[in-house]
Amino acid sequence: MYFLNEEERRHLLKRLLPKSRELEVAEELRGWNWHTAPLEPPYGCRLALYEVASSYCPTNRDLFLRRVARVRVKPNVAMVRGSALHAALVHVLVAAKRLIYQYGVERYTEICRELQALDPPSLSGAVRDLAPEEQADVAQKMALLTEFEKARIVARIQEVLVKHPYIGEDSLANLALPLVLEQKLDGSLLGLSQNLSADAMIAFEPMIMDLKFGEPRDFHYLTTTGYALVMEAVYEYPVNLGCLVYVEFRDRRIIVRRDLHIIGDELRQWFIETRDEKARLVEEEIDPGVAEDCHPTCPYFRVCH
Ligand code: SF4
Repeated sequence: MYFLNEEERRHLLKRLLPKSRELEVAEELRGWNWHTAPLEPPYGCRLALYEVASSYCPTNRDLFLRRVARVRVKPNVAMVRGSALHAALVHVLVAAKRLIYQYGVERYTEICRELQALDPPSLSGAVRDLAPEEQADVAQKMALLTEFEKARIVARIQEVLVKHPYIGEDSLANLALPLVLEQKLDGSLLGLSQNLSADAMIAFEPMIMDLKFGEPRDFHYLTTTGYALVMEAVYEYPVNLGCLVYVEFRDRRIIVRRDLHIIGDELRQWFIETRDEKARLVEEEIDPGVAEDCHPTCPYFRVCH
């Protein structure tokens, strides 16, 4: 999912990277300036990154209900499915890294054999709470995703081994799987939660990757932008690139579309304004009212209607 194809790699290397390195992001919009305006959080409350970046509710009443009215609801099917598919992907990538360190380069055939035999993770409690047909659908998609990713990883391991005859296992793991998964980040400098978790970080050129299993939406860019700002605040180096990975299941096929983008001033400004607006809603306990066009799958639908 996270590995770019040849075309995307060339687009990244020849266009986006040079452009991002020339990019002049306004200094006050770099995460390391978290202590001055406009990045300095104007309110004391700490929001989860998804609370800033998710705008599925047109009026943000979901945030009011969760954080102010303290209404607890069950996640909807799409949320449960998304988190099960994320878990399946982490499972296979982490297993691959573990196998590389366990067997080393000399026994690489065993790495490939065990990886190919790997099953998807077992279903979480949230998935087991779904209706039987929905459970079966999630299980089938997890299996498809696992098979898809295993084949890609085996090919990448072999590709690296062919190119580097004297490689050791640490370098093999790093070249074949140059990703940090579920990178934990403390967002408190920017008025965000202390326990943020970015889906994936590319190790060589700082790039935030976020995996989506639904339709593309504009506000998805706020997720990569938010993590980029937090990375800059915590590590004090520039993070200029993001990639939204959209995965679609069509019958028994997987379609992947990656949206590589530069995290420039406009996105940074949008993130800060959204953060401040939502933090004000929580701090001042403002009920923004029920939206006009609520989707019935919204977890709060029965609370609002
Ligand atoms: S039901 Fe409508 S107003 Fe209520 S949280 Fe959901 S989308 Fe927002």
